[in-house]
Amino acid sequence: SSFQSLGLAADLLPAVEARGYTEPTAIQRDAIPAILEGQDVLGMAQTGSGKTAAFSLPLLQRWATAPRTAPRQLFALVLVPTRELAQQVAGVLQALGEGLVPSPKVVVLTGGVSINPQLMRLRGGADIVVATPGRLIDVIEHNGLRIGQVSMLVLDEADRLLDLGFSQELARILKLLPARRQNLLFSATFPADVQALAEQWLHAPLRVEA
Ligand code: AMP
Repeated sequence: SSFQSLGLAADLLPAVEARGYTEPTAIQRDAIPAILEGQDVLGMAQTGSGKTAAFSLPLLQRWATAPRTAPRQLFALVLVPTRELAQQVAGVLQALGEGLVPSPKVVVLTGGVSINPQLMRLRGGADIVVATPGRLIDVIEHNGLRIGQVSMLVLDEADRLLDLGFSQELARILKLLPARRQNLLFSATFPADVQALAEQWLHAPLRVEA
């Protein structure tokens, strides 16, 4: 399929097909090969562009092909502005990753619900965490998670993350991340504060547009 020609592995394709995707969207066509190669990507993309699959598919493939140092050692951290978006992104990661053996353990960490079930769910580790910034910091302070070995970092809807006042939390999180990591940032708009965030978090990113 045309998804295969972007470099996606055979074990991801049935899940792509099951969701009814036949042709990659523009952002998928441009972002997927770059992310598979390990590049940082800056995506200008609205909801509806297919941005979630654009980062989820190559993220899953990089997870599946990464050398395993320890089981369930956190590989990717996806930061999102809201609980609803966290659930949605985690659902896409889970669905698109279901053909992988083993399939990844995806854990959602968001405010608005009690922290204890989330801490319980993290016991035994996680492969991918989808989190809102405030709750992620709470969980780290409870010693529920370490992010110092993360390989991939995604900032989704970066403009909304800043609009909702998460810039201090993001600065704290950035200090806890390893220097060497792959970064992906998606935003619908690029005001000065988002540009500054991109400059701080990304290294020589490829710019892609929906
Ligand atoms: P997103 O921009 O990630 O919020 O996705 C918007 C919608 O487009 C979601 O319902 C996706 O399931 C759908 N979608 C993503 N990629 C494709 C594709 N290649 N073909 C058709 N639909 C897609």
